[in-house]
Amino acid sequence: MPAIAERLKNVSISASAAMTQRARDLAAKGVKVVSLSSGEPDFPTPIHAIEAAHAAALAGDTKYPPMDGTPALKAAIANKFKRDNNLNYDASQIVVSGGGKQVIFNAMLATCNPGDEVVIPTPSWVSYADIVKFAGGIPVPVACPQQAGFKLRAEDLEAAITPRTKWLFLNFPSNPTGAACSRAEMAAIAEVMLRHPHVWIMTDDIYEHLVYDGFEFCTIAEVEPRLYDRVLTMNGVSKAYAMTGWRLGFCGGPKDLIAAISNVNGQNSGGITTVTQAAATAALKGPQDLLKTRAEIYKERRDFVLGKLAEIEGLRCHKPEGAFYIFPNIAELIGKTSKGGRKIETDVDFVMALVDEHHVATVQGAAYGMSPFFRISYATSMEQLAEACARIAQFCKDMK
Ligand code: PLP
Repeated sequence: MPAIAERLKNVSISASAAMTQRARDLAAKGVKVVSLSSGEPDFPTPIHAIEAAHAAALAGDTKYPPMDGTPALKAAIANKFKRDNNLNYDASQIVVSGGGKQVIFNAMLATCNPGDEVVIPTPSWVSYADIVKFAGGIPVPVACPQQAGFKLRAEDLEAAITPRTKWLFLNFPSNPTGAACSRAEMAAIAEVMLRHPHVWIMTDDIYEHLVYDGFEFCTIAEVEPRLYDRVLTMNGVSKAYAMTGWRLGFCGGPKDLIAAISNVNGQNSGGITTVTQAAATAALKGPQDLLKTRAEIYKERRDFVLGKLAEIEGLRCHKPEGAFYIFPNIAELIGKTSKGGRKIETDVDFVMALVDEHHVATVQGAAYGMSPFFRISYATSMEQLAEACARIAQFCKDMK
């Protein structure tokens, strides 16, 4: 085997994927595992999207696609940005990739030089830091503490910016906390960014439609139009339309940046699967009422799980505004021992003991850069959630 490239040093396997695999392995042995580790909607892809893919394949739409996206999909995305975000991006300002993940990956490959710093509000999605490192950049985590509702505070952002800062990443609603920023909170972040014109902003709006209790999502280019020329607005169909397996993400941004991302796209994928593009076009253009219906269901699940967790001694939860995650603090349980005899010294010990002794798969806060916490994904049925909460309650109660 050839020597592995330097650039892969320090790039890790996603902890949530590792836990999901552990849950699968246990299930294969006949264990009844409840999996709350995967950030994936449990709803089906809308039928009109599936039909559009089928029709496209039958009509012969099976050849190499345009590198940056089909004209029909780009038009649907431009319309989506206008409809949902009041943002104007024309076709030359939009590129489509194989998932939101690939959009970010390609954007970092297109722009990061060795030593460039990328400010990442933390806890954060596991992949951000690894993608930045892969591209030669340096991730700079900025803590968004629980007492601040897991939000990015202006003074912390200000302190993190240096002359080497290339990008600020934003992801509100957030994976793993579900925290989302109000318009005023986003304006405070924008205010800082106006003072630092050398820094670009990548906003990952993938959980845009998953907000609850009347919370209004906002995105930075719309909140502060003076930043429009420095913002890459990323989104995708995975979470909103339950299309994780189709692999499609997109972004809008300044023309030159989009051309550079498109160039990387062309080299590493040759364009996105044609039938996926047809399905995504249908999802974005079709009826949007399913977004509200599904958000209502997620909200019921969030409230149910929060209610159950509140009854468990030792857990401290924040009420998330969006996404489908809860990020309980387990500081009070550190130092205890599980019934199975495992000393809980870290949140890794906690999630490992929980999956081994009670067969509930979750992910340790350490994977997202903040301990001691664990992440629960409530994108699963009420029955599964009820069962998981009962098991977590027993697990915590039995700790000595
Ligand atoms: N961004 C965040 C914050 C996520 O949580 C995820 C998936 O878990 C993604 C991006 C990736 O989405 P996609 O399926 O479009 O690659």
